[in-house]
Amino acid sequence: VPTLPAVVDREAAMRAVRADLGDCTRCGLCRGRKNIVFGVGNVSTRLMFVGEGPGRDEDAQGEPFVGAAGQLLNRMIDAMTLSRERVYIANVIKCRPPDNRDPEPDEVASCLPFLVRQIEVIRPEVIVTLGRHSFHALSGSKAGVGASRGRFFDYRGIPVMPTFHPAYVLRKEGEELREARKLVWDDLQAVMKRLGLEPARRTS
Ligand code: SF4
Repeated sequence: VPTLPAVVDREAAMRAVRADLGDCTRCGLCRGRKNIVFGVGNVSTRLMFVGEGPGRDEDAQGEPFVGAAGQLLNRMIDAMTLSRERVYIANVIKCRPPDNRDPEPDEVASCLPFLVRQIEVIRPEVIVTLGRHSFHALSGSKAGVGASRGRFFDYRGIPVMPTFHPAYVLRKEGEELREARKLVWDDLQAVMKRLGLEPARRTS
């Protein structure tokens, strides 16, 4: 697979991707959505996060990761000495599945080309996948995140770190919660090292 070409005007290129997506009806998820959740952040960023799909809060606001999981993601990004405004955040699918069910393979297949184009525009130095859907979509693997996290894989010349989804972390309690947060932080520290960022503090 060829590596990605350089994009000169990323803002214009991203606007073109959004325009091509339009008022999308390419899969059945269009019927239940309030808003298409396209993606947010800095299109010239070095670091991109990719989650699964919009939940209720994201569907209502049209922005990814704005609920409780989004607040944890924000804290993780801050702890990396970055900020939400300095990275780019997107999902594999851009419309909320009913009752937050998993996206179906045909829905992922319909929506994934637009994430691929977003990645082509941004061409980040590192991608972090949050949860199994984005990991599976970019790696082609069907392995679990727990068995795959902690090691970069290659997506068209971009190193990608799989880690747990913040919503998964938030479903844990007690020692399991502490352990999940530690593992995510280990993964993010590896990303920071790759980007040459100095650690500031832990997320917990
Ligand atoms: S999930 Fe993606 S492909 Fe399906 S309707 Fe929404 S934007 Fe279109």
